[in-house]
Amino acid sequence: MTTMTNTSNQLISIVMPVFNEEALIMKTIRTVQGFVSQQPERYEIIFVDDGSNDTTTDKIRKAIAFHPEMRLVRFSRNFGHQLAITAGIRYATGQAVVVMDADLQDPPAVIADMVSAWHQGADVVYGKRQQRDGESWFKKVSAKAFYRILHSITNVDIPVDTGDFRLMDRKVVNVLERMNEDEPFVRGMVSWVGFKQTAVEYERQPRTEGVSKYPLRKMIRLAMDGITSFSNLPLKFANWTGGLLCAAAVLTLIAAIWTGFTGTTLLLAVDLLIGGLLLLSIGILGQYLGRVFNQSRERPLYVVAETMGFPNSANNQHS
Ligand code: UDP
Ligand code: MG
Repeated sequence: MTTMTNTSNQLISIVMPVFNEEALIMKTIRTVQGFVSQQPERYEIIFVDDGSNDTTTDKIRKAIAFHPEMRLVRFSRNFGHQLAITAGIRYATGQAVVVMDADLQDPPAVIADMVSAWHQGADVVYGKRQQRDGESWFKKVSAKAFYRILHSITNVDIPVDTGDFRLMDRKVVNVLERMNEDEPFVRGMVSWVGFKQTAVEYERQPRTEGVSKYPLRKMIRLAMDGITSFSNLPLKFANWTGGLLCAAAVLTLIAAIWTGFTGTTLLLAVDLLIGGLLLLSIGILGQYLGRVFNQSRERPLYVVAETMGFPNSANNQHS
């Protein structure tokens, strides 16, 4: 923690993952640029281009020529939002690192509130979404439900209604950099690290341009990553239901002998139920096993094709 008196010496990194955002990247650059130019602290702005195949990359490259505080890390292909954040955090050199979406749904003005909470001693300041204007009914309901389920089944206190928009002190970032998780769930990992964590509330803005890069497939994937990396409860599910079914089977048998009643339909139903539960349990096991498998190969988490705008070549620094 640094005192408020010499904030002008502080460097704060803003990390923004971007994937095919040509419709709004210039607006984002202007808005974020406008914001940092008003702040007493120094800023670096790191765009992590997650394998865009539109003109996003070119637009960022051009902007870097005019803005010495802007940087680009470009992936060799689309590795996903969470890995883009992971990379951005590793390239960041600030005493505090802010992660935000590049579509301005997280308003840059909130960063000022985060910074002041940081100056008052917080190590993590996460943005808690008050409202989700302009997002589909389905997204709002599923997100609300997901955050609550996750909260109730994990041991780590992951705050509800909180995305990845947050500020982290250098000491938190240093721990994150050592967590080499193949399928990271960054917001959970930050909670896991601990230290002093506080929230600032903000209104999540609607996306003005372009479409969400989080189709249902990616949302489910993120939800699975969140659950499997922070809870073993689904694994216990097989145990419990197995036990319950055994008990039910014994009771049914006793009842059948007692009454002399043997219903074929009943047998079929029970059979289907057991079959279904078995497959479900194997599936759950598979989810965890798959993660173990991925992690055990020890591949690099992502591949960087290009970096630009860094003061000294940061090319060989990371994998
Ligand atoms: N994004 C990314 N890689 C992806 C998907 C999304 O880097 O595979 C970026 C995207 O450009 C944006 C942020 O992650 O800056 C959040 O994505 P999006 O706005 O599409 O998600 P939503 O706000 O709809 O949940
Ligand atoms: Mg968005």
